[in-house]
Amino acid sequence: MIKIPIDQIGKAQGSEFHFHGSQSDLDLQGTGFPVNDTNIGLRLLEAEDGYYLAGRLTGTAVLQCHRCLSEFDYPFDLELGALITFEQRKEFEGEGGIIVVSPQSDEIDITKYISDTIVLDIPYKILCKEDCRGLCSSCGTNLNYDTCDCTQDTIDPRWEKLKELNFDQEGE
Ligand SMILES: [Zn+2]
Ligand SMILES: [Zn+2]
Repeated sequence: MIKIPIDQIGKAQGSEFHFHGSQSDLDLQGTGFPVNDTNIGLRLLEAEDGYYLAGRLTGTAVLQCHRCLSEFDYPFDLELGALITFEQRKEFEGEGGIIVVSPQSDEIDITKYISDTIVLDIPYKILCKEDCRGLCSSCGTNLNYDTCDCTQDTIDPRWEKLKELNFDQEGE
């Protein structure tokens, strides 16, 4: 868990906090994929109902390519910006960038905020590289590293039938 003890936040100027670790150290299971070498540097500034958090988050996510299914490292370097508030207000619900802390709590848990920030950075279509050639649909060979003897341009039998039709004669 990534928690900031409230009694360690200085009153006058911004307080700085640093966290470092792997997914298990930081309890970032919410991402759904491994995250290594996470570095979080952040500063807290006093805001009206709480604090303003600003900082930087770097690390490496281990993702699986949608096309060839191999795992690859995805480095990220992200800006952090969020409002930490002790007031549970209706309009805050479900909104990103707002961390609501119970007024009774003596620490600020930013674990979910950090997990969410990483997940939001991951592209919808995960590819190990833009031109990933994927796996052969017949034999499963990873075509990025190998070739296979399957004919890649095999014509679907249904289309073969269409080829037999002679379109030129239509309408004549
Ligand atoms: Zn791939
Ligand atoms: Zn093949």
